[in-house]
Amino acid sequence: MKKQFAIIGLGRFGSSICKELYHMGHEVAAVDVDEKKLAAVKEFATQTFCGNGTDEALLEQIGIRNFDHVIIAIGDDIQASILTTLHIKDHNVPNVWVKAQNNYHHKVLDKIGADRVFHPEKEMGSRIAAYLTSDTVLDYIDLSADYSIIEMLATKKVAGETLITLDPRSKYDCTIIAIKQLGKVDVTPDPSEPIKEGDILIMIGNKKDLRRFRESEL
Ligand code: ADP
Repeated sequence: MKKQFAIIGLGRFGSSICKELYHMGHEVAAVDVDEKKLAAVKEFATQTFCGNGTDEALLEQIGIRNFDHVIIAIGDDIQASILTTLHIKDHNVPNVWVKAQNNYHHKVLDKIGADRVFHPEKEMGSRIAAYLTSDTVLDYIDLSADYSIIEMLATKKVAGETLITLDPRSKYDCTIIAIKQLGKVDVTPDPSEPIKEGDILIMIGNKKDLRRFRESEL
């Protein structure tokens, strides 16, 4: 379903979101103080507006209250990011997602009602560190500070085991929710089917338990 997005701040982060959303067929309004930044995304935006996100008259002119989703990706100007978030929440936009520069900025954005706060550099840093330190972690999604969904590579060590013999629920308090084999995801894996080396186990659980499973079984 086509949705209406507005992106305020078209640096590297904002412009890559703008392009992706546009290619997915959504309507995207791009807002930046810098004409050059807007010119660079012109082909990937439904509308462009040159101006300051903190300017209430501009937000009225854009009709910001009619958007489903506003992404605020203003860079170093933390004051402008906070003020823009406040104005947009005042317009009752249901989904306001904001890029934070640091933990203090993150806290303030949470307090003033941002619906989601990103730390792309920090998140990518943790992700890369996880890949670098493990041969078996392929990808993960953090559900909260403690819980994740993680894709792990089945090694020779686990090959031949089944979900019944492995029994991760009772041994590790975590669950294999799907198994990926040759690019196909089986969300109802047969519990008596032997796991093969190279299968990808998609697991959900507490991070500590998932690590215990990985260190003992893979
Ligand atoms: P990134 O790390 O995503 O590349 P940048 O700091 O390079 O971040 O980009 C931030 C963008 O936000 C720039 O294009 C800048 O012109 C824009 N910007 C900064 N302040 C405002 C503001 N008050 N209103 C609208 N756009 C802004």
